[in-house]
Amino acid sequence: MIGADAAAAAPRVRALVAALAATCTRPWTLMEVCGGQTHVIVGAGLDQLLPPGLRLIHGPGCPVCVTGAVWLDQALALTRLPGLILCSYGDMLRVPGSSVGTDLLAARAAGGDVRLVTSPLQVLALARAHPQRPVVFLAVGFETTAPATALLARQALTAGLANLWLLCAHVRVVPAMAALLADPACPVQGFLAAGHVGAVMGTAELAALVDRWRRPVVVSGFTPEELLRALLAAVTQLEAGQAHLANCYGQVVRPAGNPAARDLLAEVFEVVDRPWRGLGTIAAGGLALRPPYDCLDAQRRFGSVLATAAAADATAGAALAPPQPSPCLAGSILQGKALPSDCSAFGGACTPERPLGAPMVSSEGACAAYHRYRPVAVHRS
Ligand code: SF4
Repeated sequence: MIGADAAAAAPRVRALVAALAATCTRPWTLMEVCGGQTHVIVGAGLDQLLPPGLRLIHGPGCPVCVTGAVWLDQALALTRLPGLILCSYGDMLRVPGSSVGTDLLAARAAGGDVRLVTSPLQVLALARAHPQRPVVFLAVGFETTAPATALLARQALTAGLANLWLLCAHVRVVPAMAALLADPACPVQGFLAAGHVGAVMGTAELAALVDRWRRPVVVSGFTPEELLRALLAAVTQLEAGQAHLANCYGQVVRPAGNPAARDLLAEVFEVVDRPWRGLGTIAAGGLALRPPYDCLDAQRRFGSVLATAAAADATAGAALAPPQPSPCLAGSILQGKALPSDCSAFGGACTPERPLGAPMVSSEGACAAYHRYRPVAVHRS
């Protein structure tokens, strides 16, 4: 058992597990927001080491999982434009659009020029290397990846590049946490917040969330020990009937975050409402290009193409037989209302090789974590 091995190999982990057992007297449900943290928790079996009644559920912090299908649909439409180069992070290549079987890999197989990039600066190099061809970057992710996109936008504008545009689908994590809490059915009694977002954004937004919703929020790192320490801090608050913001990742997260990165975000982006996959439209849940950077907005530049494609897709969809109901529980999983092991398709109809939903595609997706570490589903109530 992976979790037992981890505990035996790490005395501090074992001590934290014991401290949790001694502290926890009642059932509590906490959510780790970040998909990277989910993978550590599932991989190390931390959730299986917790005292009875203490439950960890997985949140919407997988950027690929929450990117709305509309962005994929628009990226797919752009790949049909002659000469256009569509750039994307690798995980997005296999995420389905709103129609089953449509993804960027299929678009590439059909002749679209889809390029995998690991950094927005590669997009800049591509645009410079192909000045006669339009280059579009599908920019996704939270506040952790948005600064790199902002830097790309600044450099593109400074260089006067006339062939580079951004399909800007960035999302903001704290509004999503607030949206979850606003749901009366939300089971979350406290959050482990992602340390890397805090490293950029600081802690002010999280403090406001605690003030509004009176739930403990603990900023956490990413190792098993860091996660258990944060969990112990959250449970200690819950047992005492308290709700504070605590920072258990102070070696990386400063209250003001990274001022240079925050200034860059504020210069390039404005906060907008945004549809999330599985969660609906979240108020203030996204980032859009603000003037003068909005001249790089691919939706503005290719708006008529995208509108025509959307209309054609709708017509084609209407001509088809009604789609089969999907077994995919991605929306419920991203809201912490279900586990991957609750899905009837898990490991059968849905695998990383043949994913039905984004949480099985993404390297940060909860379904991918369960499939990697627990291919035989383990339920824990
Ligand atoms: S296992 Fe597949 S079908 Fe089921 S919720 Fe996860 S992604 Fe969706």
